[in-house]
Amino acid sequence: GQDSTYKVSVRHIPELGAMICFEDVTHLEQAGQMRRDFVANVSHELRTPLTALMGFIETLRGPAKDDATARERFLAIMEREAGRMNRLVGDLLSLSRVESEERVRPKTRVDLCGLVRSTAHWLAPLAKDAEVTLTLDLPADPLEIAGDQDQLRQVLINLTENAIKYSGKGSEVTLSVTAPAYHARLRSAGTELTIRDTGAGIDPVHIPRLTERFYRVDSHRSREMGGTGLGLAIVKHIVNRHRGRLRISSTKGQGTAVSVLLPAD
Ligand code: ADP
Repeated sequence: GQDSTYKVSVRHIPELGAMICFEDVTHLEQAGQMRRDFVANVSHELRTPLTALMGFIETLRGPAKDDATARERFLAIMEREAGRMNRLVGDLLSLSRVESEERVRPKTRVDLCGLVRSTAHWLAPLAKDAEVTLTLDLPADPLEIAGDQDQLRQVLINLTENAIKYSGKGSEVTLSVTAPAYHARLRSAGTELTIRDTGAGIDPVHIPRLTERFYRVDSHRSREMGGTGLGLAIVKHIVNRHRGRLRISSTKGQGTAVSVLLPAD
C-alpha cells in the first residue's frame, strides 16, 4: 500500500544470481511510532504540572515570601498540580499492569451486581458533589462471571466517574446490568453492563478514538476535571482481557451510553 514500509534486501544465490526480497515491516514501523508518540505525550503531561510547581516555588521564595494570603493560595495550586502528577503516574502504572496481563485469563469469579452496588455506594459522594443522581438497574438474581474483581471495579469506576464528570449538574447516571442472554457479538452467552448519562453527549467523530491514550474531546475540560486521558485506554485493555466488547454510543444533547459486553460463562 501507499503508506507501507518495506525492508528491501538482496540475496545472492550461487549459480542462479540475485534475489530481491521485500519484507512488509509496516506494523513494526507503526509500533515504533506509537511508542515514540506515547513517550512524548507522557513527558509533556508530566512537564506541565512540574513547570507550574517550579514556578510557584520561585514565587514563594521571592515575591510572595511575606504575603500569607498569596502563600496559601499558591500552596493550594501546588497541591492540585502535585495531585495531578500523582494521578498520572498511578494511571500509567495501571495501564502498564493491565497491558501486561491482557493475555492472562482471569481465574477468579466475580459477583457483578454486588460489585456494581459497592462501586455506586463508593461513588455516591462524588455524584452528590456534582449534583448528579446515580441510579441502579440490576437483575434480582446474583450474577457471577469469570473475571478479575479489582480490574472490573476499575472499569466501573472509570466509566461512572466519566459519566458524572462530563455530564454535569442535574444529569442522571444509570448503571445497569442485563440478565445473561445469547449475544451474536460474542457468539455465546453474555451479560451487558451499561453506564448511561443524560449529559451533553459526544460528537460521533470522536467516538472511535476515545480509547486511545491521551485522546480527549476537550483537553481543557478534562484537565479541569482532573482527568489523565488514560481512563478509557485502561478500560479497553481490561475489557479485552475479559474477552468482552466495549461500545460507546452518544447523541449530542442527549447523553452517552458506554456498555461492556462480558461473556457470562
Ligand atoms: P479523561 O481522563 O480525560 O477523562 P478518558 O480516557 O476517561 O480520559 O476519556 C477520554 C475523553 O472522552 C474525555 O476527555 C472526554 O472528553 C470524553 N468522555 C468520556 N466519557 C464521557 C461522557 N460520559 N460524556 C462526555 N464525554 C466523555
